[in-house]
Amino acid sequence: MSIAPEADSSGGNSEDAPVVTADLFCVHCGYNLRTLAISGICPECASSVRESIISGPEVDWARRARRGLTWLIAATAGSTVLMIPSMLYYAIPPSAFVRLYSCANPLYLLLRCLLVVAAFRVTRASPYLPKPAVMHPLRLATRWLLLTSLAGRLVVMIPAWSSGYLQLTTEQRFAIHALATLLELTGLICLVVYLRQMTSDRQPGIVPWSTAIVVMLAVLLVWNEGMLIRGYRDYQLQRAARRPTTPAMTMKVLGLLTSMAYVLLWMTMTLFFHKCRRILGAVIATRRAEPVTS
Ligand SMILES: [Zn+2]
Repeated sequence: MSIAPEADSSGGNSEDAPVVTADLFCVHCGYNLRTLAISGICPECASSVRESIISGPEVDWARRARRGLTWLIAATAGSTVLMIPSMLYYAIPPSAFVRLYSCANPLYLLLRCLLVVAAFRVTRASPYLPKPAVMHPLRLATRWLLLTSLAGRLVVMIPAWSSGYLQLTTEQRFAIHALATLLELTGLICLVVYLRQMTSDRQPGIVPWSTAIVVMLAVLLVWNEGMLIRGYRDYQLQRAARRPTTPAMTMKVLGLLTSMAYVLLWMTMTLFFHKCRRILGAVIATRRAEPVTS
């Protein structure tokens, strides 16, 4: 049996072995493992130092955020697919569209719920958040904006609530729908900026991606609100038995453009979340392989 310098059973560090350079507490007994060799063991309970590094709170946080990103990817990829039937609106008879829409509607709400739950997981509070002065307000804004927008969508889109229990007028529905869209797109902007802050130090290539998505979201926000105001004005004119200002054909083309813009947006966001997920995966892998640095 040879006496290798790394095999220091006392847990102390040998000359060249990498050591823990920041406070790191043993996951079993809480002993501070700082200055100990990564390949060594805890002097108190003899569990391996590496185990505490792999399952330490920072890695735990990164892992949870990464799982949240997987859910976000599912939500945005699902939304991409779901936008396709809405593009069919312009090709199939209205009665067939109503049937299609009644199937797509619950799915749409489910995906929205998934998106909000995933965003909450990604924006979990942690002492390991980089740039907390910027990221903390962003995570709160993301959460509140997406949550209130979801509440608005649930109220408008579940008929039992909007026309049964709440007895909403068409005006109120238009207003809630416009507000929910505003809150949702603003919330998504906050989420994208949050993820950019979280990952750009490790992968500066993420910055142009996030900027492109923020611009898309902002353009879609203005466009959508414009469409809603236009739709509402036409609805008022129709009720007054007057011709709507926008010809039906123009309205269809504008609607098709909106659907296409959404498909592009959800697709780009899916790719962006995928990139962020890979960066977090690299963070976890690095923590496993390298010394903990302060
Ligand atoms: Zn221990």
